[in-house]
Amino acid sequence: MARPIVAIVGRPNVGKSTIFNRIVGDRLAIVEDMPGVTRDRLYGVGEWLDHNFSVIDTGGIEIEGDSELLKSVRAQAELAIEESDVIIFMVDGKAGITAADSEVAELLFRAKKPIVLAVNKIDNIKRQDDIYEFYSLGFGTPYGISGSHGTGLGDLLDAVVGSFPENEEEEYGEDVIRVALIGRPNVGKSSLVNAILGEDRVIVSDVAGTTRDAIDTPFERDGQKYVIIDTAGMRKRGKVYENTEKYSVMRAMKAIERADVALVLINGEEGIIEQDKHVAGYAHEAGKAAIFVVNKWDMVEKDEKTMKEFSQKIRDHFLFMTYAPIVFLSAKTKSRLHKLLPVVVQVAEQHALRIATHVLNDVISDAVAINPPPTDKGRRLRINYATQVTVKPPTIIVFVNDPEMMHFSYERYLENKIRAAFGFVGTPMRLFSRKKS
Ligand code: GDP
Ligand code: GDP
Repeated sequence: MARPIVAIVGRPNVGKSTIFNRIVGDRLAIVEDMPGVTRDRLYGVGEWLDHNFSVIDTGGIEIEGDSELLKSVRAQAELAIEESDVIIFMVDGKAGITAADSEVAELLFRAKKPIVLAVNKIDNIKRQDDIYEFYSLGFGTPYGISGSHGTGLGDLLDAVVGSFPENEEEEYGEDVIRVALIGRPNVGKSSLVNAILGEDRVIVSDVAGTTRDAIDTPFERDGQKYVIIDTAGMRKRGKVYENTEKYSVMRAMKAIERADVALVLINGEEGIIEQDKHVAGYAHEAGKAAIFVVNKWDMVEKDEKTMKEFSQKIRDHFLFMTYAPIVFLSAKTKSRLHKLLPVVVQVAEQHALRIATHVLNDVISDAVAINPPPTDKGRRLRINYATQVTVKPPTIIVFVNDPEMMHFSYERYLENKIRAAFGFVGTPMRLFSRKKS
């Protein structure tokens, strides 16, 4: 299921990052806790009632060569309108309505996305009256909140999750592999789409339409159906903020949510940069199958060791994604291109792989026999049994006497044993410990 994306929009200093931190809390994106990953908070995962959603604070987008506040907030608003499902429009209750607020309001007003108006810095009951002037912005009820005290957030989040789109019907059948191409600008995403489709097809016709087909590109190869997600997005060019990192990540978020398999493109000519990790990290955290595609391989001077060395660099940089296969190719010359789709099929299968409980438990028993679980103050972790509860990504629940005693390192050990037995190539896996009832 695709998680909805919530964007927080507003001029600087209204409290966006304070509220972002409140919503995301300790549940920072999993990858950010992994070694080797920076802690830039570009996005996080929020949870309210039964809903999981991604949150992004669109603040901090700076227009290069132009320090104008209005232009920056406008860029944020445009980004949020294009890429999110619900927008939290945040204003400052102490400051009242400013010119920049009105500017954002005007843009958001035309958007066909649900908007929830949050008036921050309502720190005490006396300030409650300060919210009324914000009715004039035209977004209905203003929700008074305080980032400092954490008050009012419940009502705000009720309104946010209440505006989530209805669970849309599955757009494509189970037999269609949904592929997202992600990576920083100029890495070769649209070139690769063109290369895959062949000369005879130009990506995305300009046919206007309200259906998803207008932005996705379906094709069939050797009897297998695929759809490339959000091909239209790859074609967009020319917005001033296009090269900002938040933009890249946010664009990628939506495509990844709708996909089964993420092709994480790396520029073979330039190497790996921090931004590649953020985009890849999102695919991991969203539980999608992933393949590293090292593009522009034609530009690299090679000998027999080059590929191995580059692979090692990828492994060093993406410690949290050792499961993802690596494919080297050139979208331009099409060399090695034929290697890609078979790997896509393979990881899509592994992403949907389901292991029978008795087979899984044989492997767990063997693993436990070789390397018994840890003890703590004389007590030993006891594993009763494990069962795979879902696919996409494969999710396994391990029933134990005391989940507190399951350490990260032992979980990793079990995961490695499970992978050694069943593969799960190219897919993240989730392992949870539960108390046996
Ligand atoms: P952003 O630029 O919109 O991300 O705003 P920040 O989250 O960085 O907050 C700007 C300033 O407002 C900081 O000094 C915060 O401590 C302060 N602030 C945030 N929330 C509140 C609040 O609810 N009440 C008050 N009084 N100050 C707040
Ligand atoms: P996108 O922004 O990720 O969609 O990247 P594009 O597909 O627009 O490619 C950016 C630039 O890189 C273009 O000038 C392409 O011609 C070039 N390019 C893409 N793939 C390759 C490749 O495999 N080899 C070389 N040499 N250039 C490439």
